[in-house]
Amino acid sequence: MERSTIVRVHEGLHARPATRFVKLAKGFESDVELVKDGKAVSAKSSVKLMLLAVKENQEVTVRANGADAIEAIEALIGYLENPKAGLEDEDHQPTGDTGPKPEVKPATESAPASPGAATGLRGVAASEGFAIGPAFAHFPPDIAGQGRVLQAEEIAGEIDRFRTAVAAVQVRMDHALAQDSLSAGDRGIVAALRDIAADDSLTGEAESLIRGGNDAISAVITAASTIAADFSAVDDHYLNARADDVHAVGRQICLVLLGQDDVSLENIPQGAILIADDIGAWDLARAPLKRIGGVICGHGGATSHIAIIARSHGIPAVLGLGDQVNALRTAREVALDGNNGHVIIDPDEATRADFAGRVEAAAKERAGLTVFKTVTPKLADGRIIKVAANIGSLEEIEAAQEAGAMGIGLFRTELLFMRHMHLPSEDMQAETYAALAKAFSPYPVIVRTLDIGGDKPIVGIEFPDEENPFLGWRGIRMCLDRPDIFKRQLRALLRAAVHGNIKVMLPMVSDIGEVRQTRVLVDECAAELKAEGVPHAAFDLGVMIETPAAVLIAPALAREVAFFSIGTNDLTQYIMAADRLNPTVAKLNDVTNPAVMSAIEMTAKAGVAAGIMVGMCGEAAGRPDLIATFVRMGLTELSMSPASIQRAKKAIMAMAAEG
Ligand code: PEP
Ligand code: MG
Repeated sequence: MERSTIVRVHEGLHARPATRFVKLAKGFESDVELVKDGKAVSAKSSVKLMLLAVKENQEVTVRANGADAIEAIEALIGYLENPKAGLEDEDHQPTGDTGPKPEVKPATESAPASPGAATGLRGVAASEGFAIGPAFAHFPPDIAGQGRVLQAEEIAGEIDRFRTAVAAVQVRMDHALAQDSLSAGDRGIVAALRDIAADDSLTGEAESLIRGGNDAISAVITAASTIAADFSAVDDHYLNARADDVHAVGRQICLVLLGQDDVSLENIPQGAILIADDIGAWDLARAPLKRIGGVICGHGGATSHIAIIARSHGIPAVLGLGDQVNALRTAREVALDGNNGHVIIDPDEATRADFAGRVEAAAKERAGLTVFKTVTPKLADGRIIKVAANIGSLEEIEAAQEAGAMGIGLFRTELLFMRHMHLPSEDMQAETYAALAKAFSPYPVIVRTLDIGGDKPIVGIEFPDEENPFLGWRGIRMCLDRPDIFKRQLRALLRAAVHGNIKVMLPMVSDIGEVRQTRVLVDECAAELKAEGVPHAAFDLGVMIETPAAVLIAPALAREVAFFSIGTNDLTQYIMAADRLNPTVAKLNDVTNPAVMSAIEMTAKAGVAAGIMVGMCGEAAGRPDLIATFVRMGLTELSMSPASIQRAKKAIMAMAAEG
């Protein structure tokens, strides 16, 4: 017996909804399956359900076989269609789906350099803010399988041992969930881990390996790796991040099997910087977070639970340092800059004083700026200057909204391409861009087409070895040579434009032909979508002005596009011929150099003369000392990291007050 329906569960069957669905399904004797796109999985396993990656508004079928099949289908379809109805709130917690929304910048984003940065390390800026404190190295030993082949008569005993260990881990997690001290966000994260520990997928896989003669520890490690690999392969970044959770649960089971306690974070001193290769969300959520001054990890990225926890507790974090983290094992003191991913080992006196000052000043400033969140900055003549956000993932939407962003002035699509093991599908891209458009409607959302080159390779695109990747096959150049990739993105953008105010901008433009060729592709995509009967809408096409060539042809470009957005990060490096990532030429990499300022002015003049919008999305847009100059040049949109928005609004209001 089966029935199909459209899923109305917000954001689909992610962690908590999947668990609720499983709980409902387990209440029936019948075998119950959920079917999507011809693939059927047991509705009684939350891991399998999550891996089916069911999204909101997708069609699924519930199939049941048994005495209470009708009731099962009724209840499960009821949940899918109206998830809020009739649910007791089991854990008194939010969904735990996404946790607090992160504010993440790719590590390549330029920001004013921290002193001493040149001598330090660089990772992913995962949670903003500055910190300095004693180093607390946390490197628990790796757990290795015993690699023992069990005798037939040992197997039953080993399975018992394994089941006892799983039960002990579940009890521990239940106990942690019962603590009042756990915040709502962390509770959701621990609950998601408990669900994995309680799920048949991990335990079933491990048990079958033990039956095959593997010792319990080897079996848990192998089973966790297999399931983690399944999570990593799904076309969904939330599910990709669940791979870490599976490993964390596997580790807890192994520790119980070994009769060992995990190395504790309990004794971390006040204000210490926690340094680790990896920290399980389970460990971090239980740690005395108020005492942790900052977090530095070899592993982790934008959507890992460590990043989410750090952001939600306002703990600056630099993640994804890779093997470089080993250099910190013996550090005594560490300074970190979560705004641009810098880590400084044993800082000198000047750096220490500077960081201490930054930490204090940041706290004071944050408190004083919140009144600007809802302000719409206007000049004395009534003109509105839009202050928008630069973001690179959907998780940052809330941070941008919280800051008071008037739309998105730069959505960097690189992360979408970089964090998967394959190129993102058109559907996935369309969903992502549509979610963005809906979140900020009626404000515009400017999506930048893929801006990637050989310095940041991604799976699925072969980049040639280049002497000078910054002058090479990147951005619009690569996209026009790979219409298969580019058209997929343009089609997704046309589809998303139905849902809000999407604008599209092209990076690294240096020739007018690049705009014209793009228009031909956009028209082709629109014609294809029309023929296929797929809803789509036109979008404004603009260009980033970030090459000297674009500045010099700005008057001609302005006749062909709907807007300019000045990318000062690249424009500065190309005008000054000074690599933006090379600290030895950092002095030249200065946006206030008259050469760069006059390039900005020329661009603004050309845009204003043609009557198109001129904005800026490079880091300079958020500099309070430069904002008045840019506005006087004619810029009407400034887009920046969410953390800079309120400060920028204040600077514009100050201009208005001066008249
Ligand atoms: C720029 O170059 O100014 C810009 C905003 O783009 P990115 O930093 O992503 O190169
Ligand atoms: Mg750029």
